[in-house]
Amino acid sequence: MRLSRYFLPVLKETPADAQIVSHRLMLRAGMIKQSSAGIYSWLPLGFKVLRKIENIVHEEQIRAGHIPMQMPTLQSAELWKESGRYDAYGEEMLRIKDRHDRDMLYTPTAEELITDIFRSNVSSYKDLPLTMYQIQWKFRDEIRPRFGVMRGREFYMKDGYNFDLSKEDALHAYNRHLVSYLRTYERMGLQAIPMRADGGPIGGDYTHEFLVLAETGESEVFYDSAVTDLTFGDREIDYDSVEQCQGVLEEFTTKYARTDETHDEALFNEVPEERRRTARGIEVGQIFYFGTKYSDALGAQVQTAEGEKVSVHMGSHGIGVSRLLGAIIEANHDDNGIIWPEGVTPFHAGIVNLKQGDEAADTACEGLEKALVAAGLEPLYDDRKERAGGKFATMDLIGLPWRITVGPRGLKNGVVELTCRRTGESEELAPEAAVAKLIEIYADHRVTGL
Ligand code: ATP
Ligand code: MG
Repeated sequence: MRLSRYFLPVLKETPADAQIVSHRLMLRAGMIKQSSAGIYSWLPLGFKVLRKIENIVHEEQIRAGHIPMQMPTLQSAELWKESGRYDAYGEEMLRIKDRHDRDMLYTPTAEELITDIFRSNVSSYKDLPLTMYQIQWKFRDEIRPRFGVMRGREFYMKDGYNFDLSKEDALHAYNRHLVSYLRTYERMGLQAIPMRADGGPIGGDYTHEFLVLAETGESEVFYDSAVTDLTFGDREIDYDSVEQCQGVLEEFTTKYARTDETHDEALFNEVPEERRRTARGIEVGQIFYFGTKYSDALGAQVQTAEGEKVSVHMGSHGIGVSRLLGAIIEANHDDNGIIWPEGVTPFHAGIVNLKQGDEAADTACEGLEKALVAAGLEPLYDDRKERAGGKFATMDLIGLPWRITVGPRGLKNGVVELTCRRTGESEELAPEAAVAKLIEIYADHRVTGL
């Protein structure tokens, strides 16, 4: 992509109404524009990152054996009246009337609708286990939308639902989700710690929230610092193996880590004092097992091998896809701007031409652009007639992890400069060597975007 042809409305001024760094940087980098309170347009750069995050979520869900599908954003109120949540959900539910005066709503979550799909189509234990998920816009009329995409009213969420014959099977689904979430967040360059949480309006005894530690997080959390040493890494896991998934769950949830809702001071005091931490965190996901709550309410039953009719055991599992942009930036930035992890960066590398119009520099930049595209990478080539300082500032602000700087002086010696955004370190390389190095860096981060 040529920057001269792209739409990147960066702001020079720091927006006064944005309270946290991720919100400020998303506005300054021209990623989003507020359309009304808690509702945003996703401008090209923001949309690109949103899609990368979404694609990682899809890849990891499919890897875990979960089936993608999509449900509508607007739902009839009928099912919600049947489950009792139409009244229970309260002011956060956006209620709408259609032209026939029928009660509709913008989906805040989809347990009712998926359960209805299930009950209309599944009646035998032979069709279980089943886990389906969608990535779809949600609406919650939050009392205080703030912090940009972190607490929006319209937001993008992955929501998945498992249907199982027994509690035991449903707990395997729960564990499988926990494992797949650990992988998902790590691929985005994030450490998200599973913490024992509270069921809230969805209900249920088994629930963990995934929290990214950040000073600007809205949740107060308490944990044993040993949990921050745990990483999932690139270990192979068989998602069908009850033992393996259970083993990972135990590894990641046995040490003390809780949100303020479930915090237990006496238990916390059993953690050695030097490892006790109180901090703030951003909730980027949550998993639930809630038994037969919705299947009882909506009559979702299957016949067992013995011919008996039983309610299915269910769970639901969410990832805050749009909130993740904010969380990733909170965890990856410096005074000059964003520092995207390689897994989610909107462009893989920036190309800065120090002397636009100089024949050698222009030819070298175009050659680099072609070579990177041929290798399946997406460069952003700053081909504008601007000062070098301005070009560097834009690249730093939008946070591409790697920058290739091309100028007539270096080219005389046959080199360009490859700079790492995170460390600020540069090295001089032949153009082909810079391309080869980027190919190697991104070998493990092949996520398709737009
Ligand atoms: P919160 O406690 O932050 O209000 P929640 O527990 O009500 O969130 P869930 O029902 O668990 O939310 O939704 C799944 C995920 O969706 C959350 O973990 C969070 O990452 C994301 N999410 C929830 N509400 C919002 C929102 N208003 N804006 C952006 N993302 C949200
Ligand atoms: Mg939650």
